[in-house]
Amino acid sequence: MIERKVARTARVGIFAVAHATYWDQFEGLYENIMGYHADFVEQVKANGVDVVDFGMVDSSEQGYAVAEAIAAAKVDLEALCRALGIGRVRVVDPYDLAQCDAAIKEELAADEPSVIISRRPCALLKYVKHNKPIIADSDKCVGCKACMKIGCPAISIVNGKAKIDNTLCTGCGVCAQLCKLDALKAAKEV
Ligand code: SF4
Ligand code: SF4
Repeated sequence: MIERKVARTARVGIFAVAHATYWDQFEGLYENIMGYHADFVEQVKANGVDVVDFGMVDSSEQGYAVAEAIAAAKVDLEALCRALGIGRVRVVDPYDLAQCDAAIKEELAADEPSVIISRRPCALLKYVKHNKPIIADSDKCVGCKACMKIGCPAISIVNGKAKIDNTLCTGCGVCAQLCKLDALKAAKEV
């Protein structure tokens, strides 16, 4: 193999995901998955990147623990994708529907594999600050339910109008992007 002139500096994190309930039901399943996991880790390491192996995540408790470990390790997901041979790697903000829509259309039209990374901290994490709840204007709302397509539990239709549950709304603004009648506004816009 030809030595790289400039050493790769990317740090990638890898973990295996499964459901612990199945370990006792299927003999050897855990060992099998961890075997594949180990092979995958070696394949990525062969690309000259720094690999942090977080092992198996098979419970919600472990998921939270690994999420913190990943944040602390400052891993580079884009570099992992490129190390696996993906040439088209892009990052989108899941709160920006137009950006996500454009990215999905462009990558589906591409004639090579691509990865779209949807990056934003989970709204349920303790350190994530929320905006004020969105405000529904009942005068403008016609009850078309377009804003409900995202399945947010904070939105309901009451008496034919959108209603926002202030105890659940994080003020993300995604529903407002779906309302063509401008009936959903961020608190600061009102
Ligand atoms: S999309 Fe707009 S008009 Fe339609 S129900 Fe939601 S708030 Fe009302
Ligand atoms: S702003 Fe976000 S959290 Fe609030 S109702 Fe709309 S989609 Fe749900």
